[in-house]
This record gives sequence, structure tokens and C-alpha cells, in this order.
Amino acid sequence: MRNCAIVGINWGDEGKGRMVDLITENYDFVVRFQGGGNAGHTVINEYGKFALHLLPSGIFHKNVVNVLGNGVALDPENLMAEIETVREKGIAINENNLKISDRASLLLPWHRELDALEEERLADKKYGSTKQGIAPFYSDKYQKKTVFAGELFYPEELRRHLSELLEWKNLTIERVYGAKPHTMAEIEEWIEKYADKIKPFVTDTGKLLREAQKNGKSIMFEAQLGSLRDLDFGIAPYTTSSNTTASYAPIGSGCPSVKIDDIIGVVKAYSTCVGEGPFTCEWFGPEAEKLREAGGEYGAKTGRPRRVGPLDIVATRYGVQVQAATCIALTKLDVLSYMDKIPVCTHYVLNGEQTDEFPFPAALPDAKPVIEYLPGWGVDVSSCRKFEDLPKAAQDYVLFVEEKIGCHIGYVSVGPERDSIITR
Ligand code: GDP
Repeated sequence: MRNCAIVGINWGDEGKGRMVDLITENYDFVVRFQGGGNAGHTVINEYGKFALHLLPSGIFHKNVVNVLGNGVALDPENLMAEIETVREKGIAINENNLKISDRASLLLPWHRELDALEEERLADKKYGSTKQGIAPFYSDKYQKKTVFAGELFYPEELRRHLSELLEWKNLTIERVYGAKPHTMAEIEEWIEKYADKIKPFVTDTGKLLREAQKNGKSIMFEAQLGSLRDLDFGIAPYTTSSNTTASYAPIGSGCPSVKIDDIIGVVKAYSTCVGEGPFTCEWFGPEAEKLREAGGEYGAKTGRPRRVGPLDIVATRYGVQVQAATCIALTKLDVLSYMDKIPVCTHYVLNGEQTDEFPFPAALPDAKPVIEYLPGWGVDVSSCRKFEDLPKAAQDYVLFVEEKIGCHIGYVSVGPERDSIITR
């Protein structure tokens, strides 16, 4: 029995969903431990193409138990919509294969609204939120002003708790933003709509996972976004509001005693970034357009065109370190086949000096990329299934990246399908 975490090394959208989908059949449990409906994992399998936001990617595997831990932002609206979409494709989702922590806090209707109001107030200084309510949710959680999913089983107490929260929250909505206050009737209607749908899945996931450990079961932890969006270690303030790093998985799943043996860090063969914030390697114009088209780089949640550029070794090495990755999955190598030469950012220049270190957030906007070019391979690699099948230049690119980031590349992905993968 080994436990594993699959995490993003960069800005998110590295292809974690396809890696989890590939590997989950070897695990008994798949656990989401942070984040909410604000990002998307794209999974392509025999049932079709899915953009998962909250559901763990193990949902497609019959014998896997999927867990939403206490660390997630439990958004009932998004979750129920997502469950319906997945069920429509013939996949069973029931209380046996989906478990929600009784200590997961509910993302309430005012969280989404406050997210939008704050982005509007920030105007041209906005953080690039997907407006799914995540930042207001987590700040309320840390102020102890959210309700647990487990409170749905105590309706009287829940009503009292919500009316207290409502009174407090309306102060902000009305006095800070000048917006229309919420009413208790609205909130009760909302609870009425979702409580019975959510309750069957709610349980003590800490107990469940502790028992699983005792019985020799294996657990996979599935992260959302990437190292550079981590609340503590990312490119503040353009981060998400939770910890996207593997070390948070034991806490966010409800099982702090769990030991993670393997941390698979997912890195895309080039860089992409959604939203605002410094993105040192960014390309613009036709060069960017070509890469964006080749990689289909449009947000899974919002459809927004992603910012693109060459692989950033400085940011990636830092990402590997903060995730404590034990192995790397390099995805989308096939996308680079159109390039005559492959650009890589090997260093930054900061204050006139070359550096290998990823800068402190306040210094990051001044960093300039140093680009090196490696030979291209010029042929389609999507049918390669062994490392030796890859053209020499593609092998060299992988080995170059491996050496620079200081972590073994154990998987090379050459297409979105489950079997388009090379294992080393
Ligand atoms: P995630 O949030 O990290 O799971 O990433 P996304 O799902 O947002 O983005 C990854 C996208 O790349 C999805 O559309 C995947 O189907 C696709 N993808 C993943 N791996 C590969 C690959 O190796 N090659 C190609 N061409 N597409 C891939």
C-alpha cells in the first residue's frame, strides 16, 4: 500500500486531471483536499470529455471511493450540477462512491456575490478571480463564519447559525459594497433546495480514511491549481485562497496521520497561466496565438484564452521544491512538435543580475527571462509509447528539463487520451 498525491507544479492546468484518471485505478480512495469549483480538470475517457471542478477524478473508476475533504470549498450548486452532468453519461454517483466530509464548509450564496463585488471594486487592479466565491469563502472560514456540511443534520441549530451569519454578512454587503442584503427566507429556500441532496454523501471522512489506512488501502490525493497559486508560496496576491501543496493534503482530507509516499508533480512542456499576475515568460502576438491554438489553451472553467509562453525552468524548479515532488509527469510534449526550435527559459535577470532563484512576489514583476533554444523534432510524437520511440531531440528535451529541475520525469504525456503516455 502506497499513498500518492498528484499536484500542479506551475500555475495550474498542467494536466493533473488526465494523470489522476490514468493512475486512479491503482488506488482505493481519491481525495480532493482543497479548493472548490474555481478550476477545472479535464478528463477524457471512454465515457466522453469532462471538465471536473469539484468531483474527484476517480469518479469514473468503479471500485474507487471518492472523497471531498474538510479542506474543500463545498459549493452545493456547482457540485450538484456537476454530479448531474456526469450521471447523464451513465456514471453512477451514490453514497458508496462519493463521500463528503462533515467538516467541509459550505460555500454560501453570498460568497459568489462578494467575489464579484470585490473584483468590481478593484477594477483595473483585480486579482483575476473566477468569481466562484473562493476568496470570500476561505476568509470567512478562517473567521469561523461558515457552516459545516455536518450541520445539515441539525436543522434548528443550522437555522440559528445561519441567521447570525446573515446578520453579520449583510453589514459588509450593504455598508461596504452598497448592495442588496440577503434575507433569511432566501437562505432557507437555498438550504431546502440542497440539504437533502448533499446529506446522503456526508460522513466523517477522517474516520473513513483512518480505517482505510488501517486496512491497508491506498489513497490518492488530487490537488487543484499549482504551486504558484498556493496561498503561502505562490505569486501573491494572484494566488488562490487555499494551499495547493501536497503537504496540506493530510489536513485537508481529515487524516493528518497519513503519510504520502509519492508526490507526482505535473508540469506542462510549456507554460500557461490563466488570469492576472506576473508571468515572466509570456509570449504575445502571433507566436502566442500559434502555441495557444496548438495546445487548445482555453480555460476549462471560463473558456478564457490562457496566457502562454515557453517552459519556465526557474518557476518549475521552485514549484518542484515547494511541492516536495518525488516524480514529474511532463504533459503535452506533442504540442511542441510544430516548433523548429524549442524555447526554454533557463534563468531570470533581476536587477541586472542573472538568477536561478524564483523571486519574492514583490520582485517578480521586474524579472526578465533568459531564453535558450533546443533543437525541435518536427514530427508527430502522439503515437509514441516508449521513451525510445521518441525522436532523439524530444528525448533530449525531456532529459534537459529533468536535469534542470532536479527531479525524475517518470511520465511523458503525448496526448490527452488515457493511453497516450510514456512511463520511464
Ligand atoms: P488540469 O487542471 O491540471 O487537469 O489541466 P486542464 O484539464 O485544465 O488542462 C489540461 C488540458 O490538456 C486538457 O484539455 C487535457 O485533455 C489536455 N491534455 C493533458 N495532457 C495532454 C497531452 O499530453 N497532450 C495533449 N495534446 N493534451 C493533453
